[in-house]
Amino acid sequence: MQKNRTDWNVNTKLNHPVEVKITEGNRPLIQPIYLSAKYYPNEAVPYFDQFMYSRVSNPTTRQLELTLAEIQKREECMVVGSGVAALTGTFLALLKTGDHVISFKESYRPSRVFIRDYLSKYQITSTFLSLSDLSQLESSIVPGKTKLIHFESPSNPNLEIADIEKIITVARKHGILVSMDGTFAGLHQHTQFDVDIMIHSLTKFGNGHGDVIAGCIAGKMSVIKTIRDMCLQLGAALEPQAAYLIQRGLKTYMLRYTHQTATAEKIVKFLKSHPKVKWVRYPNSELAKKQMKDMGSTISFEVDPSVAKSADNFCHKLKLIQLAASLGSTESVIAPTLAFFGLDLSQEERDSMLLTPYSVRLSVGLEDAEDLIKDLETALT
Ligand SMILES: *Cc1c(COP(=O)(O)O)cnc(C)c1O
Repeated sequence: MQKNRTDWNVNTKLNHPVEVKITEGNRPLIQPIYLSAKYYPNEAVPYFDQFMYSRVSNPTTRQLELTLAEIQKREECMVVGSGVAALTGTFLALLKTGDHVISFKESYRPSRVFIRDYLSKYQITSTFLSLSDLSQLESSIVPGKTKLIHFESPSNPNLEIADIEKIITVARKHGILVSMDGTFAGLHQHTQFDVDIMIHSLTKFGNGHGDVIAGCIAGKMSVIKTIRDMCLQLGAALEPQAAYLIQRGLKTYMLRYTHQTATAEKIVKFLKSHPKVKWVRYPNSELAKKQMKDMGSTISFEVDPSVAKSADNFCHKLKLIQLAASLGSTESVIAPTLAFFGLDLSQEERDSMLLTPYSVRLSVGLEDAEDLIKDLETALT
């Protein structure tokens, strides 16, 4: 492309601004954010082997994908506009009319609702089991129809731990794909497991600062290609500015995750010894310790009815910890679990999953443990 600027008038000049060239070898230490939606192609290279249009590919989002594939020890990774888009794009890519999927009632509500109420519109049937009892897993397989087992570990909101090895063994025996939502455990854990599709909401620990919505899907090249094709059809692309913020947030990922975990452990200890706390859930089983190194910064517990009118009221009593959705960020937030995650369930399911009018989910941030404990102590009186 040749530009002869001197002949141009003002509007033409303003709409084709001067390019600043960088001397070869004079590179920035931080890669720029490529905001351009479109790219001028190299004539000698096939169009689709280069960047053409940012809904399909972009250097900034690609840098993030390569970082995420590397730390998750997977061949390939795709980033999309939300954790939910990562989940729904995966389901739509891998399932078709007549198929059957096995999932678990202890799942993030939008996953459960999509599998149960939206896939059924396309005659894709589902069976929901409990993560605490896998005895029905194999007998729930419908020969020739079950194509996917989808689970979370730890589960949202009550931190049930899945026996991942067992799920993979059953799935392999029957030639079924396994997808796992590892959001609560973060990006650095569960890399030793051969799940076919690993999904994360990057809104949580990945970005970590509560100012981006994003998701990612990682696995073998071939399965991610299938999912990528579907996500491109759905237009689920992540914005380059958002990708940049996540890339920056990831620099402190391990520091944040381990520090937040250490603070959460102190808070668990405090809550467990408090007479107005009925139960505390935090990963500590043998299975959890076998599968994870860091137990994370999410805790769920139930308060005694004498301290507040409801879980919502208890959350509002806290002054430092804010009532808000989401988790894994630098600031601590708390949510009433029944109102946020359980309203689509029957009373029996709510009871079995410990979603009660007084249960809450706390996500521990980077504040000082003493300040958080003081806030909880005051609200528990
Ligand atoms: C938040 C969350 C999601 C959805 O992620 P978004 O980025 O909010 O769309 C999926 N799975 C789990 C376990 C989550 O906690």
